[in-house]
Order: sequence, then structure tokens, then C-alpha cells
Amino acid sequence: MEIYDNYSLKGLNTFGIDVKARRVAYLQGSTLDEPFRFRRDVEALLKGDYLRHPYMLIGEGSNMVFTKDYEGTVIKVGETAFHGGDDNNYKYLTVGARMLTDEVVRLSVGYKYYGMENLSAIPGTIGAAVVQNVGAYGVELKDLVETVEAVDLQSGEWREFTCEECTFGYRTSLFKEVEETKSRREKESENTFNFQLSTYNSRPRWLIWRVKLRFAKEFRPVLTYKALADELQRRGIDEPSQQQVRDVVTELRWSKLPRPEEHGSAGSFFKNPVVDEATAAALKAEYPDMPLYPGNKLSAGWLIDQCGWKGKTMGRAGVWPKQALVLYNAGGCTGAEVAALAKAIRQDVKHKFGVALDPEAIII
Ligand SMILES: Cc1cc2nc3c(=O)[nH]c(=O)nc-3n(C[C@H](O)[C@H](O)[C@H](O)COP(=O)(O)OP(=O)(O)OC[C@H]3O[C@@H](n4cnc5c(N)ncnc54)[C@H](O)[C@@H]3O)c2cc1C
Repeated sequence: MEIYDNYSLKGLNTFGIDVKARRVAYLQGSTLDEPFRFRRDVEALLKGDYLRHPYMLIGEGSNMVFTKDYEGTVIKVGETAFHGGDDNNYKYLTVGARMLTDEVVRLSVGYKYYGMENLSAIPGTIGAAVVQNVGAYGVELKDLVETVEAVDLQSGEWREFTCEECTFGYRTSLFKEVEETKSRREKESENTFNFQLSTYNSRPRWLIWRVKLRFAKEFRPVLTYKALADELQRRGIDEPSQQQVRDVVTELRWSKLPRPEEHGSAGSFFKNPVVDEATAAALKAEYPDMPLYPGNKLSAGWLIDQCGWKGKTMGRAGVWPKQALVLYNAGGCTGAEVAALAKAIRQDVKHKFGVALDPEAIII
């Protein structure tokens, strides 16, 4: 385990926000020479005093916005080992939590393991993808999860969860669980440290270290997402291959979203709001062009666009000109500027449509 004190997080979050953490702990991945290196680092973490004070887990930091310095320990998971397998019905990939989600898709396409290609080019690690149940172009990660292995950072127990036990929902899972009551360790730490607790759950329970994904043996493309089906049709592709689906999804994504190396962002900043039947019907009657998805889900991007925010900036934070759901760093912005912009957008959408937007990104 490598420990750095008073460490800049600028390179550890895709928004590129320049804040510091009191401490960053890098948990190393296993190697062929040292197959238990990751376990050894976790044991050291559990035995040390790091978990007595506020701590958080971070993958690539592509779903978070830091609004201030983090007065605790940021733990970065390093496990990247992977292996494949199959049985009569499925093929499987077991991957370390630190592996990039897109790298897992690339592997699956290379091996002709089917089902994950629609999740191409989503930034971030596969461990965090489980936490958020990432989704895109008609597929969610839960559709592929067989089991998740995690360490309970409070008891030290190593546990395997079935897909059902992960209780996946729209951009959520069991692993987002917040500890409701303050633990003994936290009370102890308050006596000795005056940490400023942020809105973020300062003591996540589960550290995911390995994920087993289940793939189909036969290719049946998921083309339920209209933009993907339309684009394939436009290109004259009636029966796409797995690689073609991956390529088209990747191109579609980057035609609409800011590339992290050019403009910082956290992808979709808000979740698509789900409203009750009566509200959905009333809004649809008033705005016939309004997109309405199954389950009375509205398009947050459309609502924001209607309030005139697309392409606008406030301070050094902006709304991406090609996708109103994405807030971005227009040049050296602070997390506070992003939060102020998000608040203004939220107020406008609430005022015009009576609908509350909740952030998908994690505000820290
Ligand atoms: C340009 C862009 C496009 C995006 N497009 C999409 C999209 O289409 N669909 C979508 O769903 N998301 C999208 N996102 C959001 C983001 O890519 C995903 O949420 C991603 O899974 C986050 O991965 P990460 O490693 O960066 O996680 P982080 O932001 O580092 O962490 C996210 C959460 O997971 C927790 N966490 C991280 N690692 C672990 C671990 N090993 N164990 C337990 N908890 C952990 C963190 O504590 C935090 O709560 C996009 C982001 C960007 C920047």
C-alpha cells in the first residue's frame, strides 16, 4: 500500500477539480509474482488507523464532484487481475475492480463473449460501475453481473454477493448503502480529530474488489435504444456484428459528450426523474414533444434544454452544448462553481415543470 499525505486530487477526478485530500492510500493489485498482494494491502488497511477517520473509495473519479478539500483518506483500489471461463449456458469473465469498464468490454468483444458491447466507452472502473449500476444504450451492468466480491470495511469480512443480493436499481445498488448510525470508531475519531464531514457518505461499508460477469454464447444485439438502431440503419447495417455495435456506440457517445482529456465532466450530472402517472400525463398534455420513457421516466436533458441552459456557462462551469445533461469544466472551475450551476438549473426546472432533479454525480 502506498500512502501520500496532503495529496492533490486534480488527476484523480475527471472533472479536473483541484482539491486536496488529507491522505491518499493506493491499494496495489495482485501480480503473477505476488498473487495475494491486494489481499495483503487490504489487511494492512483494516489493521491500520485509516478507517477510524472519514474515508472514501475512488475509482477513476468520473462520477464525482469535489466541492472542497477532503479531510480524510481517499482509498484507490488497484486490483486488475482477470480470468475467463464457461459452463454449458454462459461464458464468464472475472475481473479486478480497478479494471476500466471499457477495457472489460474490449476484452469481451475480443473473446466473442456477448452482451456488454452497448456499454462501450463508459469512463471509469468496473468496481464503481457495479456501485452505480451503469447503463447506456439499452443495457445496464446488472444484466451481466453474476457475482460481486467485496470486503466489509467495518467487520473485515470478505463476502460474495449474488446479482439478486446486490439489489440493483436505476444508478444504484446495495453498495451505495449509507451507514445510518455513527459507529464507535467514528465517535472515537471525533474526540481526537475535528474532521469536517461532507454530504458524501464518509464511511462506505463495502469495498468491491472483484466482479464476475456473465456473457451470452450467441450474439443477439440489443437495439432497443432508438439512436443506436437509427444510426445502424443510416449506415445500412441490418445485421450488425458485435464489433460494429461497439464501434457505433463509441462513435455516438463521443459525438455528444465531452472527452475527459479535453473537457472535464462527470458525464450525466442529473438522473432522469421518475414522476407519478398523473404528473407524466399532465406534462405530456402541455408539452406533446416531451420525451416520456417507460415507467414515467422523463428526460432530464430535455427539461434542462427547455429552460434554455444548453451551451450556457456560469462562472467557469458550463452546460455542454451538445447534451444539456452534462455539466463541464469550462476552464479551471471549482466544485463550488459546478454546484452553483447545478443549483440554478435545478431551480429553473422545478419552477417551469414542477419536477425535482436529483444529481447522478456524487457531490463531495
Ligand atoms: C464523459 C462521461 C460519460 C459517462 N457516461 C456514462 C453512461 O453512459 N452511463 C453511466 O451509467 N455512467 C456514465 N458516466 C459516469 C461514470 O463513468 C460511471 O459512474 C463510472 O462507473 C464511474 O467509475 P469511476 O471508477 O470513475 O468511479 P468513481 O467516480 O471514482 O466512484 C463512483 C462511486 O463508486 C464508489 N467506488 C469506486 N470504486 C469502488 C470500489 N472498488 N468499491 C466500492 N465502491 C467504489 C465511489 O466511492 C463512488 O461512490 C460517465 C462519465 C463521464 C465523465
